[in-house]
Amino acid sequence: MIAMARPQIGPEEEEAVLAVLRSGRLAQGPQVERFEAAFATVCGVDYAIAVSNGTVALFLALCAHGIGPGDEVITTPFSFIATGNSILMAGARPVFVDIDAASFNLDPAQVEAAITPNTRAIMPVHLYGQPAAMDELTAIAARYELAIIEDAAQAIGALDQGRPVGSFGTGCFSLYATKNIMCGEGGMITTNDPAIADRLRLLRNHGSRVRYYHDLLGFNFRLTDLQAAIGIAQLARLESFTERRIANARFFDQAITHPQVIKPLVRPNVRHVYHQYTVRILGDREEAIRQLRDAGVDSAVFYPMPIPHQSLYRELGYDQQLPVTERLSSEVLSLPVHPGLTDDEQVRIAEAVNALTLAVSAAVGV
Ligand SMILES: *Cc1c(COP(=O)(O)O)cnc(C)c1O
Repeated sequence: MIAMARPQIGPEEEEAVLAVLRSGRLAQGPQVERFEAAFATVCGVDYAIAVSNGTVALFLALCAHGIGPGDEVITTPFSFIATGNSILMAGARPVFVDIDAASFNLDPAQVEAAITPNTRAIMPVHLYGQPAAMDELTAIAARYELAIIEDAAQAIGALDQGRPVGSFGTGCFSLYATKNIMCGEGGMITTNDPAIADRLRLLRNHGSRVRYYHDLLGFNFRLTDLQAAIGIAQLARLESFTERRIANARFFDQAITHPQVIKPLVRPNVRHVYHQYTVRILGDREEAIRQLRDAGVDSAVFYPMPIPHQSLYRELGYDQQLPVTERLSSEVLSLPVHPGLTDDEQVRIAEAVNALTLAVSAAVGV
């Protein structure tokens, strides 16, 4: 079976982990500091703060901006649950607006229409590795004095008009095992604001500037040197991983020709880093998944249910029509595009997609 993800672990990662084990410094230490400096450089920002995972990166970013009870954060319903949940964790209210069908990302016009006196931030997600419309979103944020908190969990290395994601506001990244670079579990927050960076470091470590003296209620959301050592090795390979993902996507763009399969659209002037290569299936998606599996090709649905339709959100009173998100939730299918794919595997994936025989879906297009 050609798997959806295959972590790229080489001698660099193995040697880095062994060196940390032998150093005797296993918790947060010099490797975390090195990793943060390298990450800040890649994102073109002044500060990067490493944390335990991408979910707490989002949560701490909201806390560092002082966002909490009574505040609203506008975000996308078409994302991993952590996007919405981080806002709930901070005690604020996620406000979901429908997406742009072409890019799968936030529609800036709908964001602007959802702004109220309680709105404090916009949280765009660079879904599947394609930047959201940051020029328009940052203009709206400036006009209404809102923070931008980017969920860049899937998009390390992506560019919008030449500018790295994570540099438009406060950037939140995940280093989970299947992300474009990983260290098992991990997260990173990027910012150019020294006050936000300072608050993030305090929040990450029990509100402590001087050991055993505590200025505010913080947490233990530290990354370990073991994880950071893997992260440093992965970051050094980021460009080669990303170039492979883009080349794999270019191959699928020309090799997949099935009339019921809509290939991903890329906005002008962006670098899409293809965390996922996500097509739309105009037909019976469950049948497509079965036929691909029979041909030895794994696939996955990111995500089958809009966040506000999850039972947790229903119980909180969310009851909202989101026609574009609902339609896409029922159509999207992600194919393996990871940097470990061989040429032969790429051909097999495209052939399996082109061989699909699917009943035509009755719904009309968006
Ligand atoms: C992975 C992911 C997260 C959460 O990151 P974790 O490291 O798994 O906590 C948040 N948002 C999106 C869009 C993600 O893909």
